[in-house]
Amino acid sequence: MEKSTVTLQLFASGYCKAEAHIENPISGRGQARFYAVWALWHIPEVGYVMFDTGYSPHFIEATRAFPERLYRWATPIVLAQGETAKEILASQNILPTDIRYIIISHFHADHISALRDFPQARFVCTKASLAEVQTLRGFSAVRKGILHKLLPTDFYERVIPIELLADSMATTEEGLTLYSLFQSPHFQLVSLAGHARGMLGFVYAQDSKKIFFGTDAAWSYETYQKNILPHRIVKLFFDSWQDFVQTQARIRAFEKRNPHFEVLFTHCPKTLEKILACPQDC
Ligand SMILES: [Zn+2]
Repeated sequence: MEKSTVTLQLFASGYCKAEAHIENPISGRGQARFYAVWALWHIPEVGYVMFDTGYSPHFIEATRAFPERLYRWATPIVLAQGETAKEILASQNILPTDIRYIIISHFHADHISALRDFPQARFVCTKASLAEVQTLRGFSAVRKGILHKLLPTDFYERVIPIELLADSMATTEEGLTLYSLFQSPHFQLVSLAGHARGMLGFVYAQDSKKIFFGTDAAWSYETYQKNILPHRIVKLFFDSWQDFVQTQARIRAFEKRNPHFEVLFTHCPKTLEKILACPQDC
């Protein structure tokens, strides 16, 4: 393996159950599983960098009391033994202290439940998502999917806004903002407004492997591709419906211009199939 090779692996730590018609009002029936997928890069000059963390038992602790309990009622979770990020990493001989950075796509519990398990990681998120976390409290925070109890006590000493950490910023012709970091030509973070304030995804390109990871800009590739929008009840917790629609249109335009990129979303069944098909190298 050449020195500059940046590897990417995808994993899932648990899932939550929700009504399928919320994700797909046209053909969704019964209950759907929303797997909590996260990514791990190894960057030779930096070390291990995670993108999100999936669920962990901290979610159960953080949702014991009200109003946080409402979150668990809305999205009941299933997390099997050995499925937490810490346990998955241990199976690869990676210690929690080996994780240098965790990119927080956004602050919903299915993306950040294991932050407390990584005592030496620096956290990276957008200024906008950080400002919302610092501002919202009580029921207003829970309504936007934010559980402060999931944050380590020294969170604010360890967090760095991407706007300060990035080497450079650029805007694609579709209007997507890209952040380059760690002097790496192989991946960038991408700003995906709408679902949650200041949400991030990533673009990864190493040799023939090219991935546009859209986080929760859509919940499945199928609905994204067919332009089927979720049930409008999600407006209750989305940051901006208008931005959500515009971001999907921008990703579609990006995909059309870059057809060799595979578009994946955190909770899409296709992403999980990819993980199960190639657990060591997605
Ligand atoms: Zn999510």
